[in-house]
Amino acid sequence: MSPRRIGVMGGTFDPVHHGHLVAASEVQSRFDLDEVIFVPTGQPWQKSGRQVTRAEDRYLMTVIATASNPVFSVSRVDIDRGGETYTVDTLRDLKAEYPEDELFFITGADALEQILTWHNADELFTLAHFIGVTRPGYKLNDHHLPSGKVSLVEVTAMAISSTGCRERVEHGEPIWYLVPDGVVRYIDKRGLYRKPA
Ligand code: ATP
Ligand code: MG
Repeated sequence: MSPRRIGVMGGTFDPVHHGHLVAASEVQSRFDLDEVIFVPTGQPWQKSGRQVTRAEDRYLMTVIATASNPVFSVSRVDIDRGGETYTVDTLRDLKAEYPEDELFFITGADALEQILTWHNADELFTLAHFIGVTRPGYKLNDHHLPSGKVSLVEVTAMAISSTGCRERVEHGEPIWYLVPDGVVRYIDKRGLYRKPA
């Protein structure tokens, strides 16, 4: 069997939203990927000074959001490893699971800039090709990206962020059409993101 082309979309997904899904779909089509695996991060202590939602809730929302797409799937590698997630661990684990296949790590332009400062950047580039997707409000700065290892893709601008979705729920505003319907229902069912009483 020829090597498969597998996209890897890491994220906190707190919650997963249509910006993530459009970006993954766009990259899947442009790079002719056989599959895109969403990988929710393990449970970090905090992210930007706030408590991150339980990994199982973020995992289930990601499953709900991707279930209807035959080329989308969800991996538990980062959740099951636990603790803070480092991209190099994600890629090592997935490479071990799919040794014959080609990995394409999909990340937002904001996160891509941090790749340059990771100490194992050299190892990262041996594990996967990197695809940086633009998102509204972020200017891509590609002058010090290693050539041939990173592709930049412009996706349809979707000014949606998980932070924005959480704030809307906290303020009692609707998030219909920003996240998939099943995710709206799940957030409501579990009472996620509500203002503490
Ligand atoms: P938060 O607001 O909590 O930081 P987020 O919306 O940035 O959440 P993450 O889970 O941090 O979501 O993002 C996972 C990946 O998806 C990152 O690489 C991020 O850059 C990318 N991403 C997030 N939102 C969008 C969007 N609207 N369009 C394209 N890519 C996005
Ligand atoms: Mg983010």
